[in-house]
Amino acid sequence: MSNTNALPIPQKPALIWLNVAIFTLTALVSLTVVPWYGIVHGYSIGMWVTFALLVTLNEMSITAGYHRLWAHRAYDAHPALRFVFLLFGTMALQNSAWVWCSGHRRHHLHVDDNDKDPYSANRGFWFSHIGWMLRDYPSGEVDLSNIPDLRRDKMLAFQHRHYALLAIVSNFGTPLLIGWALGDVWGGLLLAGVLRLFISHHFTFFINSLAHIWGKRPYTEENTARDNPILAVVTFGEGYHNYHHIFAHDYRNGVRWWQWDPTKWLISSLQFVGLTRRLKRTPAFQIQRALLSMQLVRAQRKLEQLPAANGPATHIEQLRRKIAQEYDALASAVAEWTHVKEQWLEDKKRAVIEHLEHANFQKRLREIEQRLKVQRRRLRILHAELA
Ligand SMILES: [Zn+2]
Ligand SMILES: [Zn+2]
Repeated sequence: MSNTNALPIPQKPALIWLNVAIFTLTALVSLTVVPWYGIVHGYSIGMWVTFALLVTLNEMSITAGYHRLWAHRAYDAHPALRFVFLLFGTMALQNSAWVWCSGHRRHHLHVDDNDKDPYSANRGFWFSHIGWMLRDYPSGEVDLSNIPDLRRDKMLAFQHRHYALLAIVSNFGTPLLIGWALGDVWGGLLLAGVLRLFISHHFTFFINSLAHIWGKRPYTEENTARDNPILAVVTFGEGYHNYHHIFAHDYRNGVRWWQWDPTKWLISSLQFVGLTRRLKRTPAFQIQRALLSMQLVRAQRKLEQLPAANGPATHIEQLRRKIAQEYDALASAVAEWTHVKEQWLEDKKRAVIEHLEHANFQKRLREIEQRLKVQRRRLRILHAELA
């Protein structure tokens, strides 16, 4: 007897065989043939150096080029630099810049939305890492309507139109050429070809998977993005992903000077030779404000979880008052900063601002910023009391 009320079994979208083949083959060969050849034949130092150089060029063309330059417009770049990014970005085999940036802009706009974010971390590690590219998911449908700016760029249009050919030529031609030059064609194909692709692929994919799962959220809890210094090392700085999701137009991901972000260092140093300009930075005040707001939210949460037996009611009442005071202090600093900034911009627009006045405005803004720094120190003490 058939059950007419049975729900239809949900069909999985069709596999994209080309992607399945590329990811499976590069993984299998990297884990078997690459070490086997190394044992029986060996790779020269020159081959290893070339491999490291190509991984760096591939990954950084994605992080500095595809990601921060084109997807987020965090700075402007000289055509010569854009050409280099496009060359090695094509070789990184992560689709054309148009397709990549359009998907990435959607990721930011609809982050964690399982129906709209092409690599939503809420669908698990596997999906956000690589699964989203293996099947024809509706969330991953290519729609270039959100990149009108990039569609005006002739260089990007050329890459998009001839992507398949360019990708094949760069991925086979370069390793062959290197192998021939170093006298070891198979070694070139294996290290500069396969292993380079496998490593640069998965290190970049970690940004969508692990950087949304593993790490801290010092700036915002509104999405799953995490700051993770270990991931920053293998992703050339993109591991500071919590910061990146809240201030996506900043050319820096690791915003503190000591945070490992080679992509940021590359972009800022190329400024001195005229290859990059108009670097966008989030005002320090906004950064402090985000950090402080998160600290306050966490303090509030800890306070609510404090068991009643954890000291006299008056102590808890005292802590509650302290937190309320800190909220007020933050609100007034924000209001004041916004006011000073508006006044400054207004005066600048009317071109009445003198050099002296300019310095005065800057000083006032810095003073308010300093207040937030002091407040964050107070909050740290408060957190210790709440622990
Ligand atoms: Zn993300
Ligand atoms: Zn981004």
